[in-house]
Amino acid sequence: MLNFDYHNPTRIAFGQGRIADLATLVPAQAKVLILVGGASAEKTGTLAEVRTALGARTHATFSGIEPNPSYETAMQAVAQIRREGFDFLLAVGGGSVIDAVKFIAAAVPFADGDPWAILEKHGRNVASALPFGTVLTLPATGSEMNNGAVITHRAKAAKLAFSSAHCFPVFSVLDPTKTYTLPPQQLANGVVDAFVHTVEQYLTYPVNALVQDRFAEGLLHTLIEVGPRLLAAPEPVYDDRANLVWAATTALNGFVGAGVPQDWATHMIGHELTATFHIDHARTLAVVLPALLNERRAAKREKLLQYGQRIWGISSGTEDERIDAAIERTRDFFERMGIATRLSAYGVGADAIDGLVAQLQAHGMTRLGEQREITPEVSRRILQAAL
Ligand code: NAP
Ligand code: FE
Repeated sequence: MLNFDYHNPTRIAFGQGRIADLATLVPAQAKVLILVGGASAEKTGTLAEVRTALGARTHATFSGIEPNPSYETAMQAVAQIRREGFDFLLAVGGGSVIDAVKFIAAAVPFADGDPWAILEKHGRNVASALPFGTVLTLPATGSEMNNGAVITHRAKAAKLAFSSAHCFPVFSVLDPTKTYTLPPQQLANGVVDAFVHTVEQYLTYPVNALVQDRFAEGLLHTLIEVGPRLLAAPEPVYDDRANLVWAATTALNGFVGAGVPQDWATHMIGHELTATFHIDHARTLAVVLPALLNERRAAKREKLLQYGQRIWGISSGTEDERIDAAIERTRDFFERMGIATRLSAYGVGADAIDGLVAQLQAHGMTRLGEQREITPEVSRRILQAAL
């Protein structure tokens, strides 16, 4: 096992009805800005529940944070907070709203020029942030219990990530019934995003991290078990939703990634696909991951065999045949979740690849993966194989 630090200060309030706990979770004297996405929080009644729980606290609402949240919209919230003096932020939504709030929380006190520099420096220049909590409505990203965020600069067509020790939520309310209103494609996105988060921290090279491996395998098994059932169920089933929510949160709260090599190349290549073609985050991952696993099959050989055996029960055939089968089963799982795994299904052709590789280079993504071996030329091969 590699050396690691593990510190996760986010308090989780899990279960049906827990939004009422905002009454005690949010500091009593706080002046609160609630931040939401489009119309969903209002339509589902979640926003009304949140306002009721805040009671007599002074609060206002900022709405309009878009999926793949933009720097441009976030900066409007920053201006409002600086102008009106809010001292506690409350994100109500999915990963996009939570990510935007992390950036906003860090940008408000940022004194070193344009806060876009936070993304350019990947968070190394964040010295402080406003405190914030979250009410999660879409299980997928794990953002509710980690300190990372991904922000898109529209004018620059750049989607970059940052993380900072100052950007953990103080608390997150995880009420599985809040997922009942999700359309099937968002549920599927959530399952696939959580699956790929787990894989990016598991399918690398062995370091004898037995706890992390078994924990990651437990998450993968859980997602494979509940994913198709979530889509097939005529009515939402509480325990399936609860298991999805907790699997997605724990897939990226630092635990399975402690003391193990981490890949993240699928995410970095996927971000370019979203920045250029506006493909949903999880869908970009479903396209990139099978091609990447195949390209990196030599470097990942031992863990691919372990993954094939422990997750998909593949134990016969040559090593190459077993690795092929493990990758095929992964692709098939995404397809069964209704998520296409080829670029062509999203209208992206070979003519796009030069531009995507140039973008990766422009964003410094030139040595990706757990071995830092995914150069722009390797990314090009992965994208070609994903066509
Ligand atoms: P999202 O972009 O937050 O939300 C997708 C859509 O779902 C929105 O249109 C939203 O509508 C709707 N929605 C949310 N909750 C709903 C509900 N309960 N009922 C009905 N509709 C609902 O999706 P996401 O997958 O959670 O977040 C994706 C973003 O997170 C990407 O930008 C990705 O890069 C990033 N990400 C972050 C991390 C991290 O660790 N920080 C990890 C992976 C990905 P409204 O706008 O109307 O609310
Ligand atoms: Fe993700």
